[in-house]
Amino acid sequence: MPGSEFEVIKEYFTFKKNRDDVNITVGDDCAMVTVPLGKQLLVTTDTLISGVHFPKSTSAQDIAYKSIMVNLSDLAAMGATPAWVTLAITLPEVDESWLQAFSQQLDSILSEYNICLIGGDTTKGHLSITVQAMGLCDQGKVLCRDKAEVGDKIFVTGDLGDAAIGLNVVQDNIHNEVYTSCIDKLNRPQARVKFGQELVAYSKCAIDISDGLVADLGHILSASGKGAIVELPAIPLSSCARKYFEQYNKGEIDWTLVLAHGDDYELCFTVNSENEAAVRELATKQQLKISCVGEITNTSKLLFFSEENKEMKFSDSGFQHF
Ligand code: ADP
Ligand code: MG
Repeated sequence: MPGSEFEVIKEYFTFKKNRDDVNITVGDDCAMVTVPLGKQLLVTTDTLISGVHFPKSTSAQDIAYKSIMVNLSDLAAMGATPAWVTLAITLPEVDESWLQAFSQQLDSILSEYNICLIGGDTTKGHLSITVQAMGLCDQGKVLCRDKAEVGDKIFVTGDLGDAAIGLNVVQDNIHNEVYTSCIDKLNRPQARVKFGQELVAYSKCAIDISDGLVADLGHILSASGKGAIVELPAIPLSSCARKYFEQYNKGEIDWTLVLAHGDDYELCFTVNSENEAAVRELATKQQLKISCVGEITNTSKLLFFSEENKEMKFSDSGFQHF
């Protein structure tokens, strides 16, 4: 059984070099990569801490999957193509079966996206995983938070709120197969990498929804100096989410849970009328659900409208009618 840090790195974090642009990988003081001519480098990092960013009961495979996906989601939000990652991992002990499961899942998800693990750090302590992801884009071809324009439609990919429901289900020990897809959304978010890459042709502005639409659309609005209206009935909910609200909230949708909790890892992006048809076509081609949920306005406010077309106010305590 590997005991030392170096044996752990060799056994579990040294994968086959799967990219020609990696000149030096795991094993030296630094990694060295070549950024192709005409491309630009995008860099992001996210840390997952046990008990904070995932429940302590989460499997090694799910932790590996999620630690990569949350980073790929940031790359997707800028329209980048993932290329390389580093991994700084803190482990409470050398648990071989845990490391084996983590390593296998890591290798599989990285191979799927043609990403190379080029380095990292291995330390002892409370379980924590930090991934740095690096991606490439064509010169200047990125999606940014500060590019929303008045009149742009606001879209989101997928469904919102499932991961927050998944977390409730796990924390409340609800063992009901009906909610499997919400738990999957929590543990196995699907970064919209392919969509982000092609969206660059039709949009300039996107963000990934990691803290809920209220906060993340809020970032677009403050960066762009704009406001927005959002129609609550247009917010996409999965059938699993609807069942949850029927069973546990008397059929009433808990908008705070759907729009102000985290972990959706869907994209929120804006599109002008000229490009709307092309974006819808792209989503259809990729078999990805997208929904128009509102519009950018020239105020500085983010306003929500209910089913009865009443304005709703969002505060720290959640959504309320005015
Ligand atoms: P140094 O002491 O020079 O910083 P380390 O002993 O921390 O180097 O790591 C040795 C090599 O193993 C380096 O190339 C480093 O990038 C790599 N490495 C360490 N931990 C990991 C990990 N968890 N995943 C991938 N590579 C790692
Ligand atoms: Mg060194």
